[in-house]
Amino acid sequence: MASLMVSISGIRGETGSTFTPAVIAKYTAAFAKYMQGGKVILGRDSRVSGPFVTDLVKGVLAASGCTVIDIGIVPTPTVQLEIEHHQAAGGIAITASHNPIQWNGLKFMGGDGRFLNPEEAATVYAMADKNETDFKPWSELGSVTDDPGAIDRHIQKVKAISFIDVEAIRKRRFKVVVDTVNGAGGIIMPKLLEELGCEVIAINQETNGKFAHTPEPIPENLEQLSAAVKEQKADLGFAVDPDVDRCAIVDNTGTPIGEEYTLAIAAKLVFSKQMGRMAVNMSTSRASEDIANYNNCMFVRSKVGEINVAEKMKEIDAVLGGEGNGGVILPEVHLGRDAPVAAALTLQMLLEFGGTLQELRAELPQYAMVKLKVNIEGRNPDAVLEAMAEKYKEMPIDLLDGVKIDFENSWVHLRKSNTEPIVRVISEAATEKEARELAERFMDEIKASL
Ligand code: MG
Repeated sequence: MASLMVSISGIRGETGSTFTPAVIAKYTAAFAKYMQGGKVILGRDSRVSGPFVTDLVKGVLAASGCTVIDIGIVPTPTVQLEIEHHQAAGGIAITASHNPIQWNGLKFMGGDGRFLNPEEAATVYAMADKNETDFKPWSELGSVTDDPGAIDRHIQKVKAISFIDVEAIRKRRFKVVVDTVNGAGGIIMPKLLEELGCEVIAINQETNGKFAHTPEPIPENLEQLSAAVKEQKADLGFAVDPDVDRCAIVDNTGTPIGEEYTLAIAAKLVFSKQMGRMAVNMSTSRASEDIANYNNCMFVRSKVGEINVAEKMKEIDAVLGGEGNGGVILPEVHLGRDAPVAAALTLQMLLEFGGTLQELRAELPQYAMVKLKVNIEGRNPDAVLEAMAEKYKEMPIDLLDGVKIDFENSWVHLRKSNTEPIVRVISEAATEKEARELAERFMDEIKASL
């Protein structure tokens, strides 16, 4: 049984074991108190457990005097946008993101449409641990209304992005396969692509939460999409995770281009049009960094975690940011990862490039990444990392989040896990072979240090 995960990205657990009605009520009641009876936007992904969780969350919010606007089955970024649209005090997305079917969770957002930052989340969790509530008498209960217009408003926001030319994309008539893995993207992704003039072949579109394959949009889970792109002779394929904040791309030959390259394509487009700053997390590929540098644009790295990237972007007034897992953040729309935004930027870039997606991928900086883990059972992970930091102190080293060591043409990032007794070893180099050798070298060094 997996334990309940409580992190800056919200709470997550398995339905029937750790993500129980009591747990859901405890955290929702604390969040409702933190909202001080304000307006709360509520949306969910398509998970089978979604309806019961929604009913419960709605009930607790109303019992706490919050005005609830239920926007139905929507992407997490849609909840973020609707907080701004309704000038709400905050929002909750009921989702376990890319986790498998047995999981569900709550992502909490504040009044600016961003996730709670680490301090705000810590406040809410501390309130939950003390079972703090603010339940109201009958005369002060909150109301619940539905708003079915959220997805259309999200699509309009994407079509209004200054970097894209909707009419030009429409004329190109891209043929696109989109795999929404029976998640919340089944409505918004095909509709957006159709409004961008694409001939759309949607697979796993039904939003029933019975994921047709492992839902994380990483290459090994994209076989069905790859086959469909080849068979349909499509220009490209998009895959999104169940809550539609991550977007992966398959090229015209049916080959996944790697989720790191969604952000690189966005960077190539945005920096071809505007000078500006970019922020990504410490484990994101150098591909975007090279593109920013080539365009004389400032490039900054943050701690891992979407909210940390978003906070850094706000601090430096970035025009673009995100994470290498296919999470593109375009502040012009909002400060959250958004797969519809990523898809629209990709089509515009492909249109302007003029060739195929395979050719476009070949023009981007070439890197390969390898992710391994070392078991450190019984050891203090901080001490393990400190020993590595000491050993490499003469090198360009960054201790913002774990230990990152930059070499001339490669890097390695060592991070502890908050849930398992492991150290993650993430490396990047020009080729897969070099990246693997580098990661294995560090694995051996960590093992030798234990
Ligand atoms: Mg997600």
